[in-house]
Amino acid sequence: MILLKKSAQVVNYIIQLKSTGSQIGFVPTMGALHNGHLSLLEKSLMENDETVCSIFVNPTQFNDAHDFRKYPITIEKDLYLLEQAGTHIVFLPDVNEIYPTGINHLQNFDLGALENLLEGAFRPNHFQGVSQVMYRLLNIVHPHNLYMGQKDYQQCMLVQRLLQIMKVNITLKICPTQRETDGLAMSSRNMRLNDDERKKAVTISKVLAFFKENLRPGDLSPIINKGKEMLDQNQFKTDYVQVSDAHTLEKVSNWDGKQSLVALIAAFINEVRLIDNMILTG
Ligand code: AMP
Repeated sequence: MILLKKSAQVVNYIIQLKSTGSQIGFVPTMGALHNGHLSLLEKSLMENDETVCSIFVNPTQFNDAHDFRKYPITIEKDLYLLEQAGTHIVFLPDVNEIYPTGINHLQNFDLGALENLLEGAFRPNHFQGVSQVMYRLLNIVHPHNLYMGQKDYQQCMLVQRLLQIMKVNITLKICPTQRETDGLAMSSRNMRLNDDERKKAVTISKVLAFFKENLRPGDLSPIINKGKEMLDQNQFKTDYVQVSDAHTLEKVSNWDGKQSLVALIAAFINEVRLIDNMILTG
């Protein structure tokens, strides 16, 4: 495994690999790796000649300074896991490497209506920040295939849009959400949960499963209200509990029995904000 910290090193190395016909897969992460991240790596390793994984906690996507400061960092363990998994290249840049001119006065991406729904509504500028870092990372790594998790459903949709804006020939491969045995979606933020919070955290995936089981054509408010009640009973402070069109993320209140649906939840358990989603149809 090769560890590179400078963008120029990555650019040169990738040029060299591509000149010998290698296909490159890329897994961008913010570290504190778990089996969700490793599932993306495994897929990339299977489908490509060389896999690059980046670890970079991107300051521009955090609207909450406290959340940024508290983001878990476990570099030594991450490098061990990446090596065990058979990763070829790790890119570990510092902030100046990604933002050489600083993090103020950045360009604006035209992300369309998706930018301000759901996560975008509760985390202003979050998707601009995600786009900033992805734009830079993709211009450095220039992979053939990009691996991201369905866990961040809206993020996948926005990155797909960014790829169109960038007019690059990169295929986005969306990988299924990996869960703990009780159903909790794996997340780096789960490390911040104490025992009591960890027990309650499973409620989010239970609510999503409840929606899937109880979905019927017609008014969705009875199941949504029941889901909110389940979260309230477990002391969650919810940002959103929503059933949306799976392609546009527009809210669906009344289901015609045909439209493709996804349910999405973002909720705080004390200080820790968790998100999860589930496709309800098909
Ligand atoms: P993060 O380090 O949280 O920025 O995540 C890096 C990548 O891993 C993103 O594409 C996430 O969607 C993906 N990811 C995070 N959690 C999971 C999970 N539980 N299952 C699958 N992919 C995940």
